[in-house]
Amino acid sequence: MEKVDVLIIGAGVVGLAVAAELSKQFNEMSLVLLERHSNFGQETSSRNSEVIHSGIYYPTGSLKAKMCVEGNQRLYQFCREWEIPHKRIGKLIIARNEKEISSLESILDQGRMNGVKDLELLDKDQITKLEPNIKAVAAILSPSTGIIDSHKLMLRLEWLALEQGAIVAYNHEVMGIDSKENGYCVTYRNPAGQLESIHCRWLINCAGLNSDQIVSFLGVNIDEIGYRIYPCKGEYFCVSNAKSALVSRLIYPPPLKELKGLGIHATKTLDGRLRFGPNAFYIEKLDYDVNEDHAQEFYDAINTYMPFLKYTDLCPDMAGIRPKIQAPGDSFCDFIVCHEIERGFQGLINLIGIESPGLTSSLALAKIVRGLLTD
Ligand SMILES: Cc1cc2nc3c(=O)[nH]c(=O)nc-3n(C[C@H](O)[C@H](O)[C@H](O)COP(=O)(O)OP(=O)(O)OC[C@H]3O[C@@H](n4cnc5c(N)ncnc54)[C@H](O)[C@@H]3O)c2cc1C
Repeated sequence: MEKVDVLIIGAGVVGLAVAAELSKQFNEMSLVLLERHSNFGQETSSRNSEVIHSGIYYPTGSLKAKMCVEGNQRLYQFCREWEIPHKRIGKLIIARNEKEISSLESILDQGRMNGVKDLELLDKDQITKLEPNIKAVAAILSPSTGIIDSHKLMLRLEWLALEQGAIVAYNHEVMGIDSKENGYCVTYRNPAGQLESIHCRWLINCAGLNSDQIVSFLGVNIDEIGYRIYPCKGEYFCVSNAKSALVSRLIYPPPLKELKGLGIHATKTLDGRLRFGPNAFYIEKLDYDVNEDHAQEFYDAINTYMPFLKYTDLCPDMAGIRPKIQAPGDSFCDFIVCHEIERGFQGLINLIGIESPGLTSSLALAKIVRGLLTD
C-alpha cells in the first residue's frame, strides 16, 4: 500500500490553502490531496458571495472572529503578492429605520472588540454622499471589506501546492477510513471506479458538507460530539440591467438572529453586477436550484433599502449550501478545528462547520492546521 505523511480530503478553498501551507512549510513531507470531483472548488467554495469579510459580527474570542480578522489581512496580502483579482470596495451595514440604530451600535462595539479598527458610524447625509441611491437612516462603514475572484485564488493555491511537491488527485472519492496504530488507512474510489487504499500519518478532513461523514467513517457518533452537518441553503438573485451601476459598495441590513445568516444583502461582483442574497433555509437533500418563487421574499427585503429596483429587475442567479453544525433553532456555533488526540485519534485533524467566513479565513485556518502539526 502506498504511504504518505499527510493526506488532505477535499479541494475546496480550505483544503487547497492547507495543502499550499503545509507543502511550503514541510517540504520533506509527502502530501496528497484527494478530491472526489474532476476539479477544485466544485461545491461551497465556488458558490458564495466572494466577500472578504472584516470580522465584525462574530463573538469576540471565537475562532470565526479571530480567523476572519487575521484571514482578511492575509488574504489581501496574498492577493497583492499573486495578483489575484480583488477590490477593497467597502461595505455599509445599514439601519433602515430608527429601531435598527441600536443594533448598529452593538454591531459597531462587537466589531471593535474583535479588532476591526477602521469602522465608522455614518449619518444619513454621509450615506447619501457615498451611496445616493440607498435608503438608510444610519450605517456602519467597513472600509476593509472587499470582493475577490475565488476561482483565481484557488487556482493559485493549487499551483503553489503542486509547485511545492504536493499531489492533487481529482476524481478520487474517500469511501472509508481505518484507524491504525501509526496513522490511517484511507480507502478511495479511483477514476476507474476501483477501490484502492493509501496509508497516511496525518489525515486532514477538509470535506466541507461531507466532513461529518468522514468522521463517521471512523465509527464516531457525530451527533454525540456535535459534528453533524445541517445543510443550510442560500439562494441569490441578480440584477441583469444597468441598475447595477446605481450602487458601488456592499450593502447589508443587520444580520439574522443567532447569526443564521447575514440577511439578504447586496454584493457586487468584480465585473460590476449587483447580486442579492443569500437567504437561509435548512434542507434535507442537497440541490443547487434557485426557486423563482422566492423572488418576492428577495424583493420585499431589498425594497426596504433599494427603492429604485422593480420586482422585474430580479433574475434567479445561483445557490450555495452552508455546512452548518448549528442545528435549526440552535444558537451560534463556532468553526471546529481540532486535532482529535483526546478522542484517541492521533494525527486526525478535523475542520468542521466551515461556513462563512470560511473563504476569508482560509489562509488563517491553514496556518492553524500547520501549528497543530508541529505541536
Ligand atoms: C451561500 C454562501 C455564501 C458565502 N459567502 C461567503 C463570503 O462571502 N465570504 C466568506 O468568507 N465565506 C463565505 N461563505 C463560506 C465559504 O464559501 C466556505 O466557508 C468555504 O468555501 C468552505 O470551503 P471548504 O474548502 O471547507 O469546503 P468546500 O468548498 O465545500 O470543499 C470541500 C471539498 O471536499 C470534497 N469532498 C467531500 N467529501 C469528499 C470525499 N469523500 N472524498 C473526496 N473529496 C470529498 C468536496 O467535493 C469539496 O470539493 C459562504 C458560504 C455560502 C454557502
